[in-house]
Order: sequence, then C-alpha cells, then structure tokens
Amino acid sequence: MKKKLSLSVQILIALLLGILLGWLCLSFEGGPAFTASYLKPFGDIFVNLLKFIVVPVVLLSMIDGILSMDDMKKVGAVGWKTVAYFLCTTAIACVIGLVFANVFNAMGAFPRLSLEAGAEWTGNTSANFMDTIKGIFPSNMWESFHTANMLQVIVIALFLGGSIMAAGEKGRLCRDFVSSAYAVIEKLMGFIISLSPIGVFTMMAWVVATQGPSILGSLAWVLLCAYLGYIVHAVLVYSMSAKAFAGMSPVKFFKLASPAMMFAFTSTSSAATLPVSKECADELGAEDDISSFVLPLGSTINMDGTAIYQCVATVFLATCAGVNLSIGQMVTIVVTATLASIGTAGVSGAGMIMLAMVLTAMGIDVNLIMIIYGVDRLFDMGRTCLNVTGDIACSLCVSKWEGGRKSAKAKR
Ligand code: ASP
Repeated sequence: MKKKLSLSVQILIALLLGILLGWLCLSFEGGPAFTASYLKPFGDIFVNLLKFIVVPVVLLSMIDGILSMDDMKKVGAVGWKTVAYFLCTTAIACVIGLVFANVFNAMGAFPRLSLEAGAEWTGNTSANFMDTIKGIFPSNMWESFHTANMLQVIVIALFLGGSIMAAGEKGRLCRDFVSSAYAVIEKLMGFIISLSPIGVFTMMAWVVATQGPSILGSLAWVLLCAYLGYIVHAVLVYSMSAKAFAGMSPVKFFKLASPAMMFAFTSTSSAATLPVSKECADELGAEDDISSFVLPLGSTINMDGTAIYQCVATVFLATCAGVNLSIGQMVTIVVTATLASIGTAGVSGAGMIMLAMVLTAMGIDVNLIMIIYGVDRLFDMGRTCLNVTGDIACSLCVSKWEGGRKSAKAKR
C-alpha cells in the first residue's frame, strides 16, 4: 500500500508547484489572466470554507474552554495567577510583534501589492479606543454571527460560557451540547485543513503570476520578523520571569525546557507536546499539581508565539493591501490578537484560522491570508515552540508564588 504524504509535505509540494506554475504563467501572454480566471477560484473556495468555519470555531472553542475551567473555582488562587501571567505575557508578546513588524515595515521589507478591488481597505480607519470598547458589546447576537464580528462573538462566548457554568445542573444539556458540537466542528476543521494543498497551490500560482516573484522575497522578511519576535520574547520575558520569580538561571531554564521546545518545534502542536512539557516542568522543579493544572490550560489558552505571529502577519497583510495602520488600530490588534490567541486550539495550523478572525476584526480582506498560507508551517514551528515554553515558564513561576519549587530537583 502506498504511504500517504503528511499534510505538511503536501503543502510544501503544493507551494513549490504553485510557485513554479506561477513563474511559467508569468512568461507567456494571458498566463496571469489564466491563473486569475481558472486557478484563483479554487483558492477562493478554500478561503470561503475557512471564513465559514471561523465563527463556530471561536464560539464553541471558547465556551468549551471556559467550561473546562470549572476547576479554576476550586483552585482559585492558582487559576487567577495563571490567567494573569498568561494575559500579561501575551499582551507583551503582541507589543513585541507589533514593534518588529513596524520596524520591518518602515525598512520597506513588506510590499504593497495591487491585488484587486476586494483587497482594498474598507474598515474604519479612525476607530478610537472607546468606540472599540463600545463596539465589542453586541446588541443582537445573530447579527454578530452574521457579520462575523469576532470581538462580539468572543464576548458572547464569555457570557454564554459563564452562564452555563452558573446554571449548574440545569445547564448540563447546554454543556453537553457545546462539547458535542465542538467535537463535530473540530472534525470539520480537520477536513477543511486537509484541503489546504489545493488552496495553497492555486493561490500561490495566482499570486506569483500576477505579482511577480518579488513577493517571495517578502515572505522571507516576514518570517525573519516573526522569528526575531519569538526569540526576543523568549529571551526577555521567559528568562526574566524564570530568574525574577523562580530564581532560576535562564540557561538552566532553557536547557531543561529544550526537549519540549524541540518536540513543539517539530510537532507544531502544544496539545501533542503536553506529556513532554509536563516532564520538563517536573525537571525544572514545578509542583506536580500546579503543572498538571497550568500546562493543559496553557496549551489551550496561552499562545504567545501565536500572538506575535498574528500581529506580524496582520501588519504585513495590511501593508500588502496598501493600508497604514494607526496607533488606535494597533491597540485594537493587541486586544484582538490577545483574545484570538486565547481562542486558538493547541493544534497544528490553528493560529492561522484565528488570524482570519484578527483580519476580519480589522476589516482587512481575509483572502490575503493565502499570501502567507503556504509558509504557515514555518511560522507554526516557531510559534508553537514559544507557546510551550510560555506554559512551562508559567508553571514554574506559579509554583514559586504558591510556596516554592520542589527543592530536590533543579537546584541552581
Ligand atoms: N500550533 C500552535 C500550537 O499548537 C497553535 C497555532 O497554530 O498557533 O500551539
């Protein structure tokens, strides 16, 4: 029996074939028009499927996540410290991502494309902070779903999740419904992602044929930008918190966390890395019950690498669409990317689906995702590595705050 190629290999092959075809089409008259008329529609179908799934994924995964936090009541102190650590580090990650993205943008590393009318900025360019706050509270739930207003969808998820929890036994039916519906949506998401080689091939051929190979150089820049963000965040935030809160040398921290980091880098899934993360956290001296609580929660809601990626990608794609983002819009990106990273499942490629949410919230054409979709795996490797490192650092710090690390292991 033939062995099936893994999805990442399929995507890589699709990417290369798409670039090759795009190049070929560049060289004869009518080639670019051919890709626009006959290849791009398949990419559009794939993007439509992504758009169609993003609202149910966000809604159900957030409610499901909130309901699984039931335990947080019991372990109140640990829960709040953990969530506070996650939120602070993720917000810092967004700021780091935005700083790097803006520096690269100012250096002219991100291109301005003239894709098509649909790629033009149609969002509100003068949103101020209070308007943003007011705008996240929905007046009509169905309208929020219908218009894919992702911030409102998240607020709805928070309200519904909290209320189902508060309803206790009477809310059991809703609770079961959410977990069953989420399982179904996860299957659907898996199916849609399995179609990605087709989307990558057709969109890449179209992008290269209509924009020329210069776009490929820009992808190297945006990758470099994201990886610099990942490294700076790890060095600044995790080293410093390991040192300041747990009294551990950064070298020791990274050395003992490295098996999980490497596993995350290759598996691109925080969830799949959980057993290895647990082992590393134990080696580092985190308390067993605390790491058992923090790591699974972290693999679901703590995604600093994803947040950096979403910020960098949003600025890059906004630039591609010819948009200069204002300071107010940057603040909105920080809020949205923080929330989006919380809503990202710890599985391969999930951050890219949530990027659709950030772009939608910013009013940027979601089709532009296809420009970076082909190299998403490369982004994903780095961001998952950072996500997992953040979970381990948190379990170590919370252990310390809750009365100290185990002293037997990991002596300085
Ligand atoms: N793959 C990432 C993780 O599992 C999520 C993402 O796609 O950003 O942590």
